[in-house]
Formats: sequence, structure tokens, C-alpha cells
Amino acid sequence: MYTRTPLLRFNGGPPLPSVKAKIMASFHGTQQHRYIWQAIVKRSAFASLIYIVLWCLVSMTGVVPEVKPSTNIILWAVFLAIPVARFALLRYFDSAYQNFNIILWHVLFTFLATAPVIAWTAITLISLLQGSPWEVSLALVFALVGLVSGGVNTFSPVMYQVVIFLSIMLFPPAYAIAYLDTDFPPMVASYFVLYWAGMLLVGQLQNQELKASVENGVKLERASYIDPLTGLANRRHFYKIIDEVCDLQKAPLDAVVVAVDIDRFKAINDQYGHAVGDECLKRFAHMFQDSFGAQDPNTTTRCATRDCEVRAKRPERDRPSDGCQAIAHCIRMGGEEFLALFFDADPDEVKRRALDLLKTARQSRVEVGSESIAFTVSGGIARGSVNTAEQLQQLIDRADILLYQAKTNGRDRIES
Ligand code: GH3
Ligand code: MG
Ligand code: MG
Repeated sequence: MYTRTPLLRFNGGPPLPSVKAKIMASFHGTQQHRYIWQAIVKRSAFASLIYIVLWCLVSMTGVVPEVKPSTNIILWAVFLAIPVARFALLRYFDSAYQNFNIILWHVLFTFLATAPVIAWTAITLISLLQGSPWEVSLALVFALVGLVSGGVNTFSPVMYQVVIFLSIMLFPPAYAIAYLDTDFPPMVASYFVLYWAGMLLVGQLQNQELKASVENGVKLERASYIDPLTGLANRRHFYKIIDEVCDLQKAPLDAVVVAVDIDRFKAINDQYGHAVGDECLKRFAHMFQDSFGAQDPNTTTRCATRDCEVRAKRPERDRPSDGCQAIAHCIRMGGEEFLALFFDADPDEVKRRALDLLKTARQSRVEVGSESIAFTVSGGIARGSVNTAEQLQQLIDRADILLYQAKTNGRDRIES
């Protein structure tokens, strides 16, 4: 029987659970909000185009010859200011969301949704106030365009933003109907109210659909990195790590690779059946993860990316000799082969843990029905400095060669 060991900490360092909780939260937010953000960018860009195209049509076709020159200038300004403000905000938001923070998200979203609307409303009101019937009609057409275009409010994380957005939009037409000397029948006013309520409803429905589809997408993406039998990270996750290391291209990272393989596993399958073999794999996966203290496969990638980036930027001499949290990835590469990947870890500590793992496996028994199954494992450990995918791959190949040396040297042992 093996006992659960606490999460691994090399060289002291902060307790892992709080770090893990933070990373999990940010990972979740980042993933989900990246999808939403991409949708906002598309819609906002589309809405800005509508503004530009509409104004080109209006001003070039001479549909509104009676509009005063001052109104003309104001309208030009609005139609240019809105897309420019939107693009500027999008750009700013795009860089801000990289360091995702839920408060920032709310503040920026409110600003993004309401700032152009407030600007638009103020200028539309001015043109209504000084307007001829033509100008009033034009302003109302623009009010509708503003209400229809964009649809950014659909993506608002909270209802209050949608209500603010739509209410501000409704203000100029409401003002025009109530106070200006226009011939609108009361029915027109009710159309606007109905339109407002409809937009709110449709926006909320779309918002719910979007959230559900984004959540499903995130769940699917997460599931694609997990091996369903053992719950460990799978080979796809491993390729992701390699890509991320490759992306870094900065100062080299100290990496330690442990390749582990269950001894004579085929014999277990042959003797007890595939289902029992699966049970042994699950049990071993637990021991493996407990020994090396890897976290949820979904969080380790981000953890690795951020920490590696931070550390990789620092010259060797400045890296902390203590208080440094090692990053572990526990991966089922396929069949009964497992890989533990460490960055910035103490190699002696890794080896000690690997030897402990072998001992735990040797002493454990998998009880299935009346059967009590014993097995052993072999491993190879390689260490080196990496900052490209090729170097990491070479390190893994070395660990693999050492693993097969362990097999030929009698199994149930580690070669390093
Ligand atoms: P060695 O000590 O040299 O590693 O011998 P071995 O028998 O462990 O190695 P070999 O590669 O010959 O056999 C591996 C076996 O693992 C063969 C395959 O049927 C079995 N296997 C692979 N994936 C699974 C799985 O998901 N479940 C089960 N039950 N068996 C699996
Ligand atoms: Mg084997
Ligand atoms: Mg094998």
C-alpha cells in the first residue's frame, strides 16, 4: 500500500495549493474570455464598418441636401469618433486582458460598451436640438442604427450593462418624440419601447447561449488534454508543453525528465485480463502523480508558461536558490509508459522521489476480486538545459534510452 504524500516542494517555496488556486482561476478566466473577446472584436469591427459605410452613403448620394453644414460636421465627427474610439478601446482591452482580472473586465467592458454610446447620444441630441425635420429624421435613423449595430452588449458579463447600454441608446429618440415639434404618432413611441425590450430579451438569450457554448468549448479543450483512464495529462498535453517551451526562446531552462514504464505489463494483461491491467494502470497513475506532485494537467501548462517565462527572463545568477517552486508535469505517454517533466527542479530531489516511486510500486498490491497483483517499474532520468523544442525532445530521448538500459539491467531500477 502506498501513502499519499504532500504536494512536492523543492527548495522550500510557497505552499502549492494557493498558487494552484490562483493559476486555476486565471486559466479558466483566460480561456473563456479569450473566446468571448474574439467574438467582441469581430462584432465591434463590423459595427464600426456599418457606421462608416452608412455615412459614406448618406453624404455621397446627396440624400439629405437640407442638412445644415454644422450638422454635417457634427455627424461626420460622430461617425468617425465612434469607430476610432472603439478600435482604440479594443486595442487597449486586448493588451489588458492578457493579465486577466475580473474587476478589470467589468470596468473595461462597461467603458467599452457605454463610452461610445454616451458620445453618440450627446452628439445626436445636439443635432436634434438644432434640427430641421430632415435632421431630426436623420438623427432617429442613426439612433436605430446605433441600437442595431454592434451587439457588443450581448457579451456583457452582467445584465446592468445591457440595460445601461440600451437605455442610453433610447434617450435621443425618446427626447425627440417627447419634446421636439415632430409629427410622430404615439405608435412610434411604443415601437421604440418594444424595440428596447426586444433587444434586451434577445441580448440576454444570446448571452446565455454564448456562455453555454464557450463553457462547453473550454470543457472540451480541457478534456482533450486528459487521459480518460488515469486522469493524467496525455500526449497532446505533452506536445503543448513542447510548443510552449519552443515559444519561449529565451534563457535556457533547467529541465529534468523521468521516463517510467511498468515491467512485464503484458504478462499482467495475459494472466488477469485487460480490465485488471487497466486497474493496475490507474493505481500506478495515482502513485506516479503523488510521487511527483504534479497538479491538474489543465493548470500545469499555464503554470509552466508563466513561471518559465518569468524565470527564463532572469539570468542564471539571479534565479532564486530557495523559495523556488518547481513545475511538474505528469503525463501518460501511452500504454504503460509515463513521463514526468520538471523545470527548475532539484535533480537529486527528483531522483529521490523516483526511487520512492519504485519502492511504493514494488510494495503495493492491486486487489481485484480474490487476486492480489504485484508489479514493478523501471525508469530513466535525464537532465539538461533546454530552450528549444528540439533540446527538450533530445532530453526525453535520453531518458528513454536510460529507461531501456534499466530494463536490460534487470528492471525495477532507475538509470540516470
Ligand atoms: P517491459 O518490462 O519490457 O516493459 O515489458 P512489457 O510487457 O511491459 O512491455 P510491452 O511493450 O511488451 O507490453 C506493453 C503492454 O501494455 C502491451 C499492451 O497490451 C498493454 N497495454 C497498452 N495500453 C494498455 C491499456 O490501456 N490497458 C491495458 N490493460 N493494457 C495496455
Ligand atoms: Mg512495460
Ligand atoms: Mg512499454
